Amino acid sequence: MNLGIAGRWALVCAASKGLGKACAEALVREGVNVVITARGEQTLNETALQLRAINPEVTVIAVAGDISTPEGRAAALEAHEHFDILVNNAGGPPPGDFREWDREVWLKALDANMLTPIELIKATVDGMAKRGFGRIVNITSSAVKSPIESLGLSNGARSGLTGFVAGLARQDSIASRNVTINNLQPGSFDTDRLRGNLLDAAQEMGLTGEEFLDECRSEIPAKRFGTAEEFGALCAFVCSSHASYITGQNLLIDGGAVRSSQ
Ligand code: NAP
Repeated sequence: MNLGIAGRWALVCAASKGLGKACAEALVREGVNVVITARGEQTLNETALQLRAINPEVTVIAVAGDISTPEGRAAALEAHEHFDILVNNAGGPPPGDFREWDREVWLKALDANMLTPIELIKATVDGMAKRGFGRIVNITSSAVKSPIESLGLSNGARSGLTGFVAGLARQDSIASRNVTINNLQPGSFDTDRLRGNLLDAAQEMGLTGEEFLDECRSEIPAKRFGTAEEFGALCAFVCSSHASYITGQNLLIDGGAVRSSQ
């Protein structure tokens, strides 16, 4: 299927590794020009080289910086005059016990996983509406649908974004102008973040890493973790010209892990 977005411009945040990188890869395969960001310059530049090799026809611009800061966002937004596609992503907050989180810890999580996506939407959505095409995808988490006890910062911050987006996506000035805003909710995907979190948890429980990873896989109906490529493919479809009637949705991609009929 031709996704009908060749030549568009996308800003894909936090995209040197993992799910963000997979979204950038899938878009680049479709002929979309991308601006990618991450804090670590070296890995980001390596990713940019890989993306250019996937599709030499597209322009790939790498902007190193922390997307959760005003400077990081300004640098990303300045890299191209307009964006047709915005993929909001950032590192997830750490696990822990809410008794140990002070205001600063909460503000950091809210900045990265709620306020940064909102700022980037604010900076891009009206231009998209004016041009009559826009696709905004927020990478959130299955934890919005089924909270993960130890990830209270993530549960809270991402739920805030989800509630905000549910209202915004339906505003006349957006929904009637072929601009869609959707959240993708990953379950367990085999990325550095997932492995890091699970291996830390295994250590706390006195299990070997592989034992615990096997146990986690066995609890998922699909009996495996998702691959970043599967996630990128969903993202590219939601950004496609075919997906103009999907907006304000939370799309769970989790191998059936969340037990729910809706
Ligand atoms: P990952 O493999 O650790 O990759 C994270 C990427 O984001 C890296 O490129 C990292 O590069 C970049 N990044 C992190 N913080 C950033 C910041 N402040 N500014 C700019 N770039 C930043 O993580 P992932 O598994 O792809 O996860 C992506 C998001 O999905 C996270 O929010 C995670 O919590 C969420 N999620 C993941 C899963 C899963 O199973 N993997 C499940 C649910 C939710 P630098 O470190 O160099 O900046």
